[in-house]
This record gives sequence, structure tokens and C-alpha cells, in this order.
Amino acid sequence: MTTLGGAVRRGLDHRMVESKDGADGRVFRELGAAEKWELVDGVRRAVLRYRDAHPRDLGERERAWLVRIAAWTPAKLEQDEADFHRVYKPISILPPDQYRSLVVQVTEGCSYNRCLFCDFYRDRPFHIKSEHELTSHVAGLREWFGERMADRSGVFLGDGNALTVPTDRLLRMIAHLRAALPASLFAGGIATFMDTFSLERKSEWELSAVCAAGLDTVYVGFETGADDLRRFLRKQGTAQEALAAMTALKQAGFRLGVIVLVGAGGVRYASAHAKATKDALATLPLTRGDLIYLSPFVEPRQTHYREALAAAGIEALSPQALRAQYETLRANLVAHHPDVKVTLYSLGQHLY
Ligand code: SF4
Repeated sequence: MTTLGGAVRRGLDHRMVESKDGADGRVFRELGAAEKWELVDGVRRAVLRYRDAHPRDLGERERAWLVRIAAWTPAKLEQDEADFHRVYKPISILPPDQYRSLVVQVTEGCSYNRCLFCDFYRDRPFHIKSEHELTSHVAGLREWFGERMADRSGVFLGDGNALTVPTDRLLRMIAHLRAALPASLFAGGIATFMDTFSLERKSEWELSAVCAAGLDTVYVGFETGADDLRRFLRKQGTAQEALAAMTALKQAGFRLGVIVLVGAGGVRYASAHAKATKDALATLPLTRGDLIYLSPFVEPRQTHYREALAAAGIEALSPQALRAQYETLRANLVAHHPDVKVTLYSLGQHLY
């Protein structure tokens, strides 16, 4: 029998992530199929034992919950997972403050898909959903979520950079979502990811129109202020260009979530990365409500990052050095932006 030492959360896609304290902070681990089966079955059996041991002292509400949990057999949850994948392509990643949003995949994949550190969307070509596809996707979501839709707050437009959708289409998509989904979902706003190098295709007026339509939060992968490292990571555009794009978003009224990659580029780039990122972000007109996410680097499985590091003779950062870079960046960014939340974005904890 597997021994779990921490808390386990289950996602809508039936992934389960265990989190517990480790020597270098919180550690996350995804459970395998057998462990999931064993855990669900164990919980169910414990619930049934409890119910049978307390036939008279259970309230109506308590009893209703026990009946509900008892119905969650491993086979039923696996069926729920299969149904999830009929309405969704994998939700590869979300910003941590968006885990409770309803994800609507108005696009699939990433229109760039070449960053050396990112393999979130290597399994699918970029595609903007047609009107018909979006209508049937949203109908599928309504059916699959059912009453669970009430647990969602906010709407997140997937996948990698939905703001690349031409403005007139994007506005029509938002109007459709507002008509087809419960109004309560929109109280938390609409959010999406966006790269920093495709925004020039949108005029100031277009950005303001999208923001006014309710898509008011954009998470941007800035990664680093060091141009050498950006080139090594195959991140398109310079840091200055990325700053200009983020400034344009702020001027149009968006709330920003700026993502910085901690530890990428190993020992060779470490000090330039920390300094250039701090200097670059100090110039950004962030305001209260914006976020800076520090995302510790996790080696991707489907890119040639490791080979590129080896070919360049670069040593990866140790966990301790990565932790130190995180702390340095955090302290410097907090000092420059005292009104902005600077916080951890751990890829391992992602669960939708
Ligand atoms: S980091 Fe962003 S822009 Fe780069 S490949 Fe991944 S999703 Fe696309």
C-alpha cells in the first residue's frame, strides 16, 4: 500500500497532486494511476464504514454527502475523466489565481510554440475555434460541469495566447460566452495568457475595446530581462519590446500578471538574469492588483533544453542556488513594487 505523506488534491481531469514540505520548500508530486485508484477506493471504504457505524446519529446533510462520496468509485471517476477529455484538450497550465476559473478553450495551443523551456502545447497545433466549434465546446462544458459550474468563479480563455485572436472575432467570442454562460461567472472578470511579441498586431483602440468587453486580466510570460538569456531560451523579442507590450496593456486598462522564470539558463546566466530582470521590471508601471509570479524552472520533457545546455557547456543551477535566485528576485521586486503581490508560481502544483 502506498503511504502518502501530504495533502492530495484532485483536479477536474482526475489528476491528483500530493503536496508536502521538503528541504527546499513545498514539494509537489503527481500520483500514478494505481495510487489514485487505491486512494479513491480507500476513502470510499472508510466513508462506508463510518456510515455503517453511525446509522442513527447522522444528519440529513451529512448522510447526503456520504451517499455522494460512496458513489465515487474509482471506475466512475475514471469515466468522469474520459468525459472531461471529450470537452477539453489538456489544460496544460494556468496561473495559480485562476485555478477556480472556468477555462474556455477559444484557441488551442500556442501560435509560437518554440520557446526552449516550454512544452505545454507541443501536443497540438495552434487553432482558433470557429463559431460552430466554440458553440459546441461551450455546450459541452455546460453539460459536463452541470451543477459543478456553480463552483467556478471567473472565466479563463485558453490556451497559450488567446489575445492573438483577431479583435472582431474575439469580441464576438466574448459576447457568445456572456450569452451562453451564467452571469455570475463573469463577476470575477475574464483572463488569458498572452505572449509579448504578437501584441503589436493590436492597436491601442483594439486593446481598450477588448478590455472594456471584460477581458481585463492578462498573464504575460516575460521570463527574463536579459536579452542573451532570451535568445538562448528562444523567447522571441527583446526585453525592451516585451516591456513596451506590457506597458501598452497597462495603458489600455488591463490588470497584469507578469511571469518571471527563475533558474533558467543555469549558472552562466544567473547573475545577469537576476539583475536585468529586476532593472527591467522596475520600469514597468505596475499598480495595486497586478501580480508578479516567480516560476521556478522545471526542465521540459519535449524540448531540447537539456541538450542546448550541454552543448553550450552550461551547468544547471543547484536547488539551493535556484532558491537563492528566487529569494533575491523576490526581495528586489518587492522593494520596487511594494503595492504589487510578488509570489510563487510553481508548475508542480498546477491542477484544474
Ligand atoms: S512560453 Fe508561451 S509563447 Fe513560449 S511556447 Fe510556451 S506558451 Fe508559447
